[in-house]
Amino acid sequence: TQAAFARIKATDDQVKAFLALNEEAALKQAAALDQAGIAPDQMLAGIPLAVKDNIVTKGLTTTAASKMLADFKPVYDATVVDKLHQAGVINVGKTNLDEFAMGSSTENSAFQTTKNPWDLTRVPGGSSGGSAAAVAAGDVLGAVGTDTGGSIRQPASFTGVVGMKPTYGRVSRWGVIAFGSSFDQVGWLSQSVKDNAYMLEAIAGLDAKDMTSSHLAVPHYAANLAQADVKGLKIAVPKEYLGEGIDEDVKEVIKAALAHYESLGAQIDEVSMPHTKYGIPAYYILASSEASSNLQRFDGIRYGFRAADVKNLEDVYVKTRSEGFGPEVKRRIMLGTFSLSAGSYDAYFAKAAKVRRLIADDFNQVLADHDVIMGPTAVSKAFKVGAEITDPTKMYLNDLLTVSVNMAGLPGMSIPAGFSKANGMPVGLQIIGKAFDEQTVYDAGYVFE
Ligand code: GLN
Repeated sequence: TQAAFARIKATDDQVKAFLALNEEAALKQAAALDQAGIAPDQMLAGIPLAVKDNIVTKGLTTTAASKMLADFKPVYDATVVDKLHQAGVINVGKTNLDEFAMGSSTENSAFQTTKNPWDLTRVPGGSSGGSAAAVAAGDVLGAVGTDTGGSIRQPASFTGVVGMKPTYGRVSRWGVIAFGSSFDQVGWLSQSVKDNAYMLEAIAGLDAKDMTSSHLAVPHYAANLAQADVKGLKIAVPKEYLGEGIDEDVKEVIKAALAHYESLGAQIDEVSMPHTKYGIPAYYILASSEASSNLQRFDGIRYGFRAADVKNLEDVYVKTRSEGFGPEVKRRIMLGTFSLSAGSYDAYFAKAAKVRRLIADDFNQVLADHDVIMGPTAVSKAFKVGAEITDPTKMYLNDLLTVSVNMAGLPGMSIPAGFSKANGMPVGLQIIGKAFDEQTVYDAGYVFE
C-alpha cells in the first residue's frame, strides 16, 4: 500500500488519474491486516486497488466527475465496494471519469483531464480513463470501472491494459451512479487477464439490492485458467469489424493476433453482423433516454450542489441544473428527453429499441455456433487531447465496436494485442462471449497473454 501511494505521488501530477486519495484510511487498513493476518475467504487481502468515482464509497467523496456532486459524501458503500472490503482489498482512492460516465476520452470531467501514460499528449480513452491510466501508470494492479457503451474496454485498448465488461447482471449495480440502467455494468481494468479473473470473482454474484443481478453461481475464473486452451475454439470474426472506419494499423495488429490464435489450433470463421452500423445511433438514443430519466434526481434538493440566489422552486431546479451539469451531460439530457417526448417516441425511442433487438439477434445467431467473437476494441489508437472534444459526433464514432455488446448484454474484454506501426500506441483485441460465459473469454485472453 505504501508503494502504491509512492508510485501515485511520482506519476499522478502528470497523469491525473485520481480525483481523491484515501491514504490515511488505506494505510490504517493495511496495518490492521498485517496485525490480524489474512482470513481464508479474503482472496484479495492487502492488495491496493482503485475505484471509479461514479461508485459510492461511504465517507469518501464521490463526484461522478460532476460539479453537481463536488462535495457529495455518501452515507453507504456500493455492493461492489462492500465486497471489496470483504475480500480484504485496500481502496487507495477514486479515479477520474467523464462526467456521469458520458464520454470516450475523460475530457468531460468537470475537474481534470486524465492523460495517457504512454504519451501524455494523448487521452486515455473514457469514460473509465482514470482507472485505465492508474493501471497503465503502474499505480495499482487493478481498478474498478463501469461500462455502458465501452467505457471499460475502449480505455483498456487505449492504454494497453486488460478491461473486462461482464455480462449484464453478473455484477451488482447497487450504489453505482446510474447512466443507462439497462446497459451499465461494473468490471475491472487490470494489468493481466489472471488478475482480472481474480478480481471479478470477488465482486460478482447475486445481490438482493439489485433485481437485475443474476442468481447464477460465480465460477472460480482464475483457478480455472489452468485448463485454458484454445485448440478447437470457434472464433467468429465479423467482416464489419475489420471494414470501413477502422484504422489500417489497428486492423494489422488484430489480423496478426487472429493468426496467432489460428496457429494455436483455433478455428477462425468470417461472419457478418449486418446491424453493426446502426449501433451508434440506436445506443445514443437509448442510453441518453435512460440517462435523462436517471439524472432527474439531481434537482438541487436531494443531493450535492444547489445554485445560490434562487427565488423559488422552479428557479432551484433550473439554476442548479444549468450550473451543475457540464455541456455533454446537458446534450444527453436534451437528446434523451426529446427521444422520449410524446411526439418523437415512436420515431426515435421505440425504433431504437427495435434496432437493439436486431443487434442482439446478430450476436445470438453468430454465438449459436461459435464460442467467441473477436475484432478490434476501438476504431483507432488513443487520439490527442483536444482533437475530438469539439465534435460530439466524431467522439461518438469511437464506440462503434463496443456499444452493440452492451445492447446485447454480453461479456466483452479488451486485451493488449500489440502496438500501432504508425505511432507506437497500444491496440486492443476485443473478445466477446456468450451471456454469463466470462470464463471462455478469460481463457481465450489468457492463452494470448
Ligand atoms: N462513450 C460512450 C458514451 O459516451 C460509453 C460510455 C460508457 O460506457 N460509460 O456513452
